[in-house]
Amino acid sequence: MTRIPSVGIIGSGMAGLACARHLADAGWSPVVFDKGRGVGGRVATRRLDGDVQFDHGAQYVTARDQGFRSVIANMSKSGAAIRWNVGSGDPRFVGTPGMANLAKYLAKGLDVRQGMTATAVRRSDGRSEIVVDGEVSHYFDRVVVTAPAPQALALLETQETFLSDFADVKYEPCLTLMANLNTEVSEGFSCRSDSDAELAWIANDSSKPGRTGKGCWVAQANAGWSAVNLELDLNSIKTKMLPLLIRELGIAADAVVHSAAHRWRFAKVVQPLGRRFVRNADATIYAGGDWCLGARVEAAWMSGDAIARDILEAP
Ligand SMILES: Cc1cc2nc3c(=O)[nH]c(=O)nc-3n(C[C@H](O)[C@H](O)[C@H](O)COP(=O)(O)OP(=O)(O)OC[C@H]3O[C@@H](n4cnc5c(N)ncnc54)[C@H](O)[C@@H]3O)c2cc1C
Repeated sequence: MTRIPSVGIIGSGMAGLACARHLADAGWSPVVFDKGRGVGGRVATRRLDGDVQFDHGAQYVTARDQGFRSVIANMSKSGAAIRWNVGSGDPRFVGTPGMANLAKYLAKGLDVRQGMTATAVRRSDGRSEIVVDGEVSHYFDRVVVTAPAPQALALLETQETFLSDFADVKYEPCLTLMANLNTEVSEGFSCRSDSDAELAWIANDSSKPGRTGKGCWVAQANAGWSAVNLELDLNSIKTKMLPLLIRELGIAADAVVHSAAHRWRFAKVVQPLGRRFVRNADATIYAGGDWCLGARVEAAWMSGDAIARDILEAP
C-alpha cells in the first residue's frame, strides 16, 4: 500500500483550513500550525462577558464560486452560517453566533495547533521543514504556507523560486474599533459603507442574525486613515476612533460602556497575484491565501482548496 504523504500547513485562516479540510476529507492527515489563539485568522470574533461580541475582521461572506457556495450551504444547514439580508448584489452570509464559527466549522476534527509561530520553511534532506518558534523542526512531504504574502515571503526567503511571485502583491491596513453601547441608535441601522468617510464601514453587529447580544458595534477606518495611524498604540487608536463613531451615530459619549481597537496590518489585498497559488518546481512547498485572488474570504477559500486539489493530483 502506498503511504499517504504528510502535509504541514501554516495558517488556520480560511485558506489554510480549506486546504486542510479538503485533504482530510480525502483521507489525508494534515497538521495546521497557527500563531494565533483561535482559528479563522481575519475571520474573527472577539467575545467579552455574556453576549457581548464583535466580528472585528471580515464582516460577511459572499459566494460566487460553486464550490464555496456548497460549503456555505452546508454551513447554513448545520447552523454555522446564516444569510444577512442587507445591501444589494450577491447574498451575504455571516457565521453564527459569530464570524469565527465559519472557521470553526471547517476546522472540526482537524489537527490544528494554535499558538505556534512558524519562523522558517525550507527544504532539507529531501523533506520540507517547518521551524516553529525558532527552535523545533517539523518535517513533512509537503508544506503549505497561507500567511499574508509579506509574512509568507519572510518565511520562504531561502526559497528563491518564490521571490518574484510575491513582489507585486499589495495590501492595505485597516484599523478597527469595537464599541458596546447601552443605547439604541436610529432604528433599522444595520451597516453603512462609504470609502471616502474616515469610518469607511460601520456595522451594528448585534443586528446580524443569530446574535443575542445588544449594542455591539464595529467600525473600520478607511485605508488612508488606517495607514496614517497604523503605528499608534491600540489605546491611542481607540481614543481617536471613538469620537468619530460617536459623531456618526449621534450618541452621547457616556453611552459607550466598552471599547477596544484592533490593528490589521495586512487587511485587504488591493493588488492580488492573479493565480490561485504558487508552488516550487517539485511541488513540495506551496503558498496561497486571499492575496492570490482578491480581498475576500471566498478568494482565500478558493486558493486553499485549489492547493489541496493540486497536492492530491500530484504524482
Ligand atoms: C477588517 C477586515 C474586514 C474584512 N471584511 C471582509 C468582508 O466583509 N468580506 C470578505 O469576504 N472579506 C473581508 N475581509 C478579507 C478576509 O478577511 C480575508 O480575505 C480572508 O479572511 C483571508 O484569509 P487567509 O486565510 O488568506 O488569511 P488569514 O485569515 O490572514 O490567515 C492567515 C493565518 O496565518 C497565520 N500566520 C501568519 N504568519 C504565521 C506564522 N509565521 N506562523 C504561524 N501562523 C501564521 C495567522 O495567524 C492567520 O491565522 C476583511 C478583512 C479585514 C481585515
